[in-house]
Amino acid sequence: MYDAIIIGAGPGGLVCATNLVKSGYKVKVFERNFFYGGTSHIFNRQGYYFPMGPLGFSSPTEVQQLLLELGITAKIEFTKHSYQLVSPSFDMIYSQPLQILEAELKKLYKEEKKGIETFFTLLKKIVKAEEHVHEWYLFYNIDKMRKSESDESNINYKEDFRVLNEYSQISAQIILDKYISNEHLKRFLGSLGTDRPKMSMRLLAVMWNLMAEKGIWRPAGGIHGIMDRLHEKLIQYGREEMLSTPIKEILIDNGQAIGVKTQNNLIIKAHWIVCNADYKTTFLKLINSYNIPADFLEKVKSMKYFGSEFCVYLGIDPSRINLSKIRAQHIFYRKVIKPTDEINLEDFDNREIEICFWSEDDPSLAPLGKISMLIRVSFPYEFFCKWKTDEGKRGEGYREYKKQLALKLVSTAENIVPGLKSSIEVMETASPLTYEEFGQRFQGSIAGWSWAFDQKLDFGKKLLIETPIHNLLMVGLYASTELFLGGFPTAMYTGYWASEIIRQNMEDSKS
Ligand SMILES: Cc1cc2nc3c(=O)[nH]c(=O)nc-3n(C[C@H](O)[C@H](O)[C@H](O)COP(=O)(O)OP(=O)(O)OC[C@H]3O[C@@H](n4cnc5c(N)ncnc54)[C@H](O)[C@@H]3O)c2cc1C
Repeated sequence: MYDAIIIGAGPGGLVCATNLVKSGYKVKVFERNFFYGGTSHIFNRQGYYFPMGPLGFSSPTEVQQLLLELGITAKIEFTKHSYQLVSPSFDMIYSQPLQILEAELKKLYKEEKKGIETFFTLLKKIVKAEEHVHEWYLFYNIDKMRKSESDESNINYKEDFRVLNEYSQISAQIILDKYISNEHLKRFLGSLGTDRPKMSMRLLAVMWNLMAEKGIWRPAGGIHGIMDRLHEKLIQYGREEMLSTPIKEILIDNGQAIGVKTQNNLIIKAHWIVCNADYKTTFLKLINSYNIPADFLEKVKSMKYFGSEFCVYLGIDPSRINLSKIRAQHIFYRKVIKPTDEINLEDFDNREIEICFWSEDDPSLAPLGKISMLIRVSFPYEFFCKWKTDEGKRGEGYREYKKQLALKLVSTAENIVPGLKSSIEVMETASPLTYEEFGQRFQGSIAGWSWAFDQKLDFGKKLLIETPIHNLLMVGLYASTELFLGGFPTAMYTGYWASEIIRQNMEDSKS
């Protein structure tokens, strides 16, 4: 009998397992894939390394602190990444402090000066209220979450709490319509790009804070390097882990999780089950529905996730491309913004695409003198699922279709990276089906629960680590309704708190 079984060796699962094993608990990790790291994993094509998921993250200090708690003492150097938006009306580096951004926009849009000032004053007010939120906000702090809202320890933050609540209830679109007239400026301020504003004003402030103030960082050795360190630590503490072992069922008895069943029908029991799969996969596929309270199941079914994307990975010869328009590691590019809201998904000139020169600050990720890069664009799962004939199987013509789609994306990117097509030495693609099958994400979702203001997430709490099933905890990106530290750090944070809940309960039951 194990103290805990961890389903999935992504960042959330590995952090949880490491902290428990470090404290002497008997833990077993089951991972479906042949590799650990979940979507924070890299793969190799002819000497070019590519990331399956995250390219960078915010909150590096919190990540470093968390690693220290787990006994990983080596200092990690972080490099701040820069972001450039190139659209019909902008060519701007926007990964810079809000104050500088505000001044630049006022110069560009003199007639909008007053509105820009009012908008940035509000943005800064929310950002300030957001500072250290995970240390005090009832919803984010497991200990305080259990106390009442009027708990004295939060009295100093009453005003911040009010501000955050107020702006969670207001859409960014409404605020921007009030203060800004220019449509392109409205879209930039409301989406950090060229799309119409969709988030709440609070979430928008969180995103601007991460992008402009805290920054997006890349750890030396890559995000996969952090996963390697976690994995090494787990081995050092004496882990038990099984790769290539999918769990097909979480076993429940009388409302309590008691064990798991593997794909090969092996049953393993534990006091606690921690699941690193996403919420919908866990509650709609791994647990018999009669074990789940009906209203909770309904919520999991109906609440929406963030969508998926199509990604083209390129190994290129940089001597053949012209980089004169490129001023950052990440370029968000849109050639045209057609006035109609109807978007043809394959018309990449009228869509925002991301171009990332991934190996730029770590040349070991490409053969000598070459570059690993990627181009991504959002894509709904529904668009690709018609090609799926069975698990891992695709209809005839899929490969060629994907290749043509990838080349179309490259053609659009060529507008700002001339020569790109002729520089390609290796090309690989990933679609929502890839993120579904290798990433194990429900419909290939990439970034947690929906960020859209009109998709209300109503679980009554924001941290979703504890579930209505006793002794079943959730970790990872989907165990929080908001990615308040950024994606990767939030996944780690939930893993840490899950392990603390288990430790606390195990200690309480001993005494
Ligand atoms: C394309 C893409 C781009 C992204 N970009 C960023 C970014 O730039 N910055 C950022 O911070 N985040 C980004 N993310 C989010 C990223 O996924 C997270 O940062 C982080 O990797 C999530 O960690 P997690 O703990 O949720 O685990 P995951 O990475 O989801 O790993 C979960 C693990 O559980 C395993 N598993 C699931 N079900 C089972 C089962 N039944 N049996 C056994 N094992 C199972 C899976 O195989 C997987 O290994 C991106 C994600 C994607 C897909």
